[in-house]
Amino acid sequence: MYSFFTQRLSQLQQQGQFRCLTSLQHSGKWVEKCGQKMLNFSSNDYLGLASDYSLYTEFMQQQAESPQPLTSSSSRLLTGNFPIYQALEERIAQQFGRESALLFNSGYHANIGILPAVADKNTLILADKLVHASLIDGIRLCEAKFIRYRHNDMEHLAQLLAKNAPHFERLIVVTESLFSMDGDIADLPQLVRFKQQYSHLMLYVDEAHAIGAYGEKGLGMAEIFQCIPHIDFLVGTLGKAMASMGAYVVCDQLIKDYLINFMRPLIFSTALPPINIAWTHFLFGKLEELKPKRQHLAKLAQHLRDQLNQFSILPIPSQSGIVPFIIGDNQRTVDMALNLQKNGFYCLPIRPPTVPKGTARIRLSVTADMTLQEIDELILNLKSMVKNQK
Ligand SMILES: *Cc1c(COP(=O)(O)O)cnc(C)c1O
Repeated sequence: MYSFFTQRLSQLQQQGQFRCLTSLQHSGKWVEKCGQKMLNFSSNDYLGLASDYSLYTEFMQQQAESPQPLTSSSSRLLTGNFPIYQALEERIAQQFGRESALLFNSGYHANIGILPAVADKNTLILADKLVHASLIDGIRLCEAKFIRYRHNDMEHLAQLLAKNAPHFERLIVVTESLFSMDGDIADLPQLVRFKQQYSHLMLYVDEAHAIGAYGEKGLGMAEIFQCIPHIDFLVGTLGKAMASMGAYVVCDQLIKDYLINFMRPLIFSTALPPINIAWTHFLFGKLEELKPKRQHLAKLAQHLRDQLNQFSILPIPSQSGIVPFIIGDNQRTVDMALNLQKNGFYCLPIRPPTVPKGTARIRLSVTADMTLQEIDELILNLKSMVKNQK
């Protein structure tokens, strides 16, 4: 009976796509693997908050005075709705200047739960070709019809809307704001214009990689493009720059009420531990004053993109701190990543099917606790590798 599983796994091994869990020791921006210490260029901890000792101790002192439970023991719909959840939702809604916010256990929960709750068979979902796997899984759970538009191609989306809009009661356009593999940014203002053109169109924007790390107040790309009031489902995750766990949607009160009644992952799963919510609440309170970290991140990222563009093999699409160095060939990408690791940079190769065929890459993720000198060392390393291979 197990031979089925053995065969599928060995198939993966032959294709060089077998995954396993890597054990790493963390110490701030450094990771250690098999005794090798490396600068972590694969982190989602974009502001470097995950190991910020002063934030940690300040929070723990607060907890010593009025401790929050380590478990909620229940769904929020039953007995798990502790006051700290409401406090955080109010804080998030207030910071975004919107009516309400609703918390979830993870971004994955949010993305597999919201769309199936709101999209029925009279709904058409139009999603960017490169949206995250959690959104694809959410769409698969829907009764709605589903079309993908070419990545960030607003003309393609306009055509699809013109052709299909009259045949549906509701349209939902789904995108990430900052794309996790290309580091490029969705045209949010154009999406808002579509919403003005089609009165039955709703926008669903996933800010997983942008919340905390971009915007004057750290509220993401929607803040930068002044689109916050116009996005129906403004989703963010809390495990990346926000150095916590969970996710939220910023929305109208009506949508919040609706989700509380219809969203299954919210209704049927134990809520996050209150102490975790308190930590997120604490960090949202600090968000605005973390501006210098965001500015430093932007400066490092700009420098890395400018320098890499001078010798990159393929053009770099990035407009952010996620900077893919696209090589194309799978084996060459793996070799370069291993070489960088040997030289003290923890860089990972990203290959198809995670990215389109022929675009294998090293995904470089800059974090605000790095220095310009460290970025320059990485650039020198990459440059000499590209030179040697020519
Ligand atoms: C990481 C990520 C998620 C999942 O969030 P979790 O909180 O880790 O479950 C969802 N969407 C995007 C775009 C992501 O990058």
